[in-house]
Amino acid sequence: MPKSSENAYDAIIIGAGIGGLVCGCFLAKAGMKVLICEQHFKPGGYCTSFKRKGFTFDAAAHSFGSYREGGNMNMILKALDLDKRLKITRYDPSDIIISPDHKITFGIDTEKTIKELQHAFPHEADNIRKFIYYLINAKPIEFVVLRKKTYKEFLDQYFKDTQLKAILSLPALGNGALPPSLIAAFTGIKIFREFILDGGYYPDGGMQALPDMLVKKLKELGGELRLTCLVKKIKVKDNKVTGVVLDKNEFISSRYVVSNCDARQTFVKLMGKKIIAEKDLNKIKNMIPSLSLFVLYLAIDKTFDSLPTPGTNLWYLPHYNIEDMYFLAKKRKVNKFDAHMVHFSPDKKTLLAFINAPFKNIKYWKDNKHKFIDAFIKEIEEHTIPNLSRHIVYKDAATPHTMYRYTLNYRGAAYGWATFPEQLFTPELRQTTAIKNLFLAGHWTTQTQGIPGVAYIGLDTAKLIIKKETNING
Ligand SMILES: Cc1cc2nc3c(=O)[nH]c(=O)nc-3n(C[C@H](O)[C@H](O)[C@H](O)COP(=O)(O)OP(=O)(O)OC[C@H]3O[C@@H](n4cnc5c(N)ncnc54)[C@H](O)[C@@H]3O)c2cc1C
Repeated sequence: MPKSSENAYDAIIIGAGIGGLVCGCFLAKAGMKVLICEQHFKPGGYCTSFKRKGFTFDAAAHSFGSYREGGNMNMILKALDLDKRLKITRYDPSDIIISPDHKITFGIDTEKTIKELQHAFPHEADNIRKFIYYLINAKPIEFVVLRKKTYKEFLDQYFKDTQLKAILSLPALGNGALPPSLIAAFTGIKIFREFILDGGYYPDGGMQALPDMLVKKLKELGGELRLTCLVKKIKVKDNKVTGVVLDKNEFISSRYVVSNCDARQTFVKLMGKKIIAEKDLNKIKNMIPSLSLFVLYLAIDKTFDSLPTPGTNLWYLPHYNIEDMYFLAKKRKVNKFDAHMVHFSPDKKTLLAFINAPFKNIKYWKDNKHKFIDAFIKEIEEHTIPNLSRHIVYKDAATPHTMYRYTLNYRGAAYGWATFPEQLFTPELRQTTAIKNLFLAGHWTTQTQGIPGVAYIGLDTAKLIIKKETNING
């Protein structure tokens, strides 16, 4: 693909999250000169790992889905020839949900999962089969048609049993940070299909292996990555991007800019005044981000033998009113825990657990972080892993402010914008923007979240740019 001689780069990508890295790899593969600027000292955004006292912890994302033949992650890693270079194992079961009356296992064998659900809810047997097979077989376009519906409305079409509906809604609360009455059916379905029915994939060495491999590929394809490189401004002239400004006022010119970072930051902070129409800016300012998460990291001694299955997400559902759990999470107090998720790492050394939590202010989390850590450990010990506290050799946590500090995601949002039906596919926040040659890629596009989703958007944004280039160059 011909390159522009006046510009330092064909495309600059702000952020080396999975969305930015995938986009960068495909642009570089098409022959474009690409630079990714990442403010953190390591790539990956929410998909990173860190080391403490000889233990490796995944910081946020701890597995991914959609790696079946034909799944988005599978298709993307294959297209980049990375499927053979990364050793990816699917842990079985990917998820277990424990409620006061049931323990449901979601494993590789879908028929087994269906039978387990039917055994627990025999009066819903036919509907369970219809529901699961609809999720597996439906074409993505069918989900788009449902975009004005909530996940609750969608579940109500199939089921009457409130316990079953709560169990099938817990992954949406955990992985979408909204209850069934507020989350779009489109998102709830995608979470269930991509995270639960085709979930549990994990790269050897930890989640950091995924972004590290994408960086390697980017460089092999001639692309560049600058770490500890905060983008301070996106430069625009005559409603068209011209490049970005870094620290010390360094300007780098580029024909395209792709923002993989928080869209609020992109439009409110990185753009100069009067570049975006006032009404569009106000709309973006009034958009609601998803809730954040409080993440607990524990290293476990070798003598503990009653840990959950490695690589499995163990969900605890204390009662069946998920709506209440969401409203409680918005005001989360240290003495009020409820649903949580625990993931025992595939290397069998560490535990990651999370609960939905609000951003609040930095003082609140400074004052309460350690209280939360201890209360959370007690909660896990009581409900999911007995005797846990006797075997902990290291403990720490990330508060919503930690989430913000490492990724600059607005208010530490775990999944970009809250995916209410009204916020889904917001025209001002799609991959193409009102500014010529400015594109978005990642979980702030109002279209997706989670690793398979942002990887797909990264690819799709690259395709849009390549198509534009091809049209320009004939
Ligand atoms: C606790 C937690 C657990 C999760 N677990 C899972 C899971 O198990 N599986 C799953 O699929 N998903 C999970 N998710 C969701 C998933 O991790 C995210 O949806 C996804 O990783 C987002 O990718 P992204 O590329 O859109 O953006 P991000 O990962 O947010 O990356 C954006 C990047 O932009 C950089 N940046 C921001 N501003 C600037 C700037 N001005 N200049 C330069 N760089 C900048 C940031 O540092 C960051 O690296 C989890 C999320 C959280 C918070």
